[in-house]
Amino acid sequence: MIKSRLLTPGPTPIPERVQQAMARPIVYHRGAEIAALVKEVNEGLRRVFPTEGDILLFAASGTGVMEAAVVNLMRRGDRALVIRAGKFGERWGDVCAAFGVEVAGLDLPWGASVDPGQVAGRLRADPTIRAVFATQSETSTGGLHDIEGIGRAMRGSEALLVVDAVSSTGAHPLPPEAWGVDCVITASQKGLMTPPGIGVVTLGRRAWEATERSDLPKHYWSFRMTKAALEKGGSTPATPATTLLMGLREALAMIHEEGIEEVWRRHARHAEAFRAATGAIGLEVFPECPSNALTGVLLPDSLDARDLAGRMKSRYGIVVGEGLDRLAGRLIRLSNLGYMDDLDVIATLSAFEMVLREMGWASALGAGVSTAERVLTEMKQG
Ligand code: PMP
Repeated sequence: MIKSRLLTPGPTPIPERVQQAMARPIVYHRGAEIAALVKEVNEGLRRVFPTEGDILLFAASGTGVMEAAVVNLMRRGDRALVIRAGKFGERWGDVCAAFGVEVAGLDLPWGASVDPGQVAGRLRADPTIRAVFATQSETSTGGLHDIEGIGRAMRGSEALLVVDAVSSTGAHPLPPEAWGVDCVITASQKGLMTPPGIGVVTLGRRAWEATERSDLPKHYWSFRMTKAALEKGGSTPATPATTLLMGLREALAMIHEEGIEEVWRRHARHAEAFRAATGAIGLEVFPECPSNALTGVLLPDSLDARDLAGRMKSRYGIVVGEGLDRLAGRLIRLSNLGYMDDLDVIATLSAFEMVLREMGWASALGAGVSTAERVLTEMKQG
């Protein structure tokens, strides 16, 4: 018998409590019940970032709310600085280009993290830039960008800071007001421990001002229409993803029972265990500044990541992320995002080591596991 364990950086496993919450009968989406549900979800989400700003919900994946941010905040022909050091940074550029927003790329090698000073330099050199699009945790590489530093470097600039937190929500704080972030987008299927299908947007005052100037075509994605519906009836203009909202309410309750700061600490401990174990196995952590959501492990030429991931799944039921696009075959992404405990980390490393041994990688069996056990106990005690 093989048990299936999902350790990809999204979608992530769903806690039993969340599954049960979603097994409840469907309710009418215009009733008081949904208004109360949306209110609870919004309050729970506010404490996750944390933010005092507005939260809007869409039935959408993460890419949907990326598009929503672009069409609500930008004007046709505006210039946007797009930080690109992986697949999802590149996606910001693709969405901007699709709507006629001119992309000024701040292009770095995949896996690098931007120096906030570079963002400030580009803004000084080009005052026509209206917004900076960044990614907090670049899921394709496991890299982390210093959003607090970027926000600080942009202080005094009129350009908006728009951040994709799809894989960092719940793993890293992102307080928009304190860090000078105007708009954050995220999605339900990762740190929020809910199935795919809810897109989340946070908006501050400057972002709302930008929505008044924006002339890009939109209807379903309109932030102003969505806010008006929230204020009028407590729900969304179109039918919300009611079942997923019930799941998300439960997931948020779990997050706040654990305590959001404890959730961040847990992600830090697990990611540190993965990183230390990677070194003990004799492999390399790929990104320059790793995120606490996942660990990108670079494989030597002698090992193929697709083969390795395939064996982990078929032998041990452990599903990990493979490299995307230009990293296909070269990178394994071990995730600790969302509903994860210490033994998920240990089980993943154990399967990783056994498969590496089978593929001829000559590190001692248990080297990664014992290192992870040490990190987990030390960080727990500390
Ligand atoms: N941004 C990041 C950082 C992501 O990890 C993902 C999903 N892997 C997306 C955007 C796109 O989200 P979705 O697949 O939900 O559209």
